[in-house]
Amino acid sequence: MKTRRYFKTTIMLVAAVLLSGTVISCTNMNGKEGSLEKSLVPVGENGFEQKDLPYAFDALEPYIDAQTMELHYGKHHAGYTSKFNAALKEEGIASTDIKEIFSNISQYGAGVRNNGGGYYNHSLFWNFMSPDGGGEPAGDLLKAIEETFGSFAEFKELFSGAAGSQFGSGWAWLILDDAGKLQVTSTSNQDNPLMDDAEVKGTPLLTLDVWEHAYYLKYQNKRTEYIKNFWNVVNWDTVEQLYEDAK
Ligand code: MN
Repeated sequence: MKTRRYFKTTIMLVAAVLLSGTVISCTNMNGKEGSLEKSLVPVGENGFEQKDLPYAFDALEPYIDAQTMELHYGKHHAGYTSKFNAALKEEGIASTDIKEIFSNISQYGAGVRNNGGGYYNHSLFWNFMSPDGGGEPAGDLLKAIEETFGSFAEFKELFSGAAGSQFGSGWAWLILDDAGKLQVTSTSNQDNPLMDDAEVKGTPLLTLDVWEHAYYLKYQNKRTEYIKNFWNVVNWDTVEQLYEDAK
């Protein structure tokens, strides 16, 4: 009798541990803490890290050429990453929460702002593209786009316009603002909509790099053609996941 009770208790304990494990892993997959956005900006022993590209340098050909990808990821993004970590150290900023850093960015120097933006914006940008990309979004995201902008075509036109009319270097964005509304916006240099002094603030859902280094080797001065071709590689799965995490 005693032994049976012991076994019964053990089995119940094991079951409880297994069940709670299941609950925890579900929270991590769907909750804010385990969000996709966080996994794109990994932190290691030496600070913020560049996550591996999810495809080969030539995977986005012919729309984005291999040489641009190699330089853009291997030199530009790598440079922002190491300079960002150096700038954080220099300013004595210990936080590894990138959103927190951006929410105080107006108090920091240009090194943290420019390299932090450069690090974060590119970390997202690679994952907004895929050799299997293109087409249209689906589900709740498509519904929200249609409700907000009229149609997917009208959204594309608005986003392309923001990217095309950004004077000089910068980024075009689709964001979810604090009121839960989708918005299209653009930022200069390496700024982004998470920064406390951004003109339009919100959670990034999609972005396009319109710095010349992102397209000049293949497209030269034809930024419009680069923007048009971007739609052929957009990874809507990532955008949809970020929307689910943000709303
Ligand atoms: Mn870039």
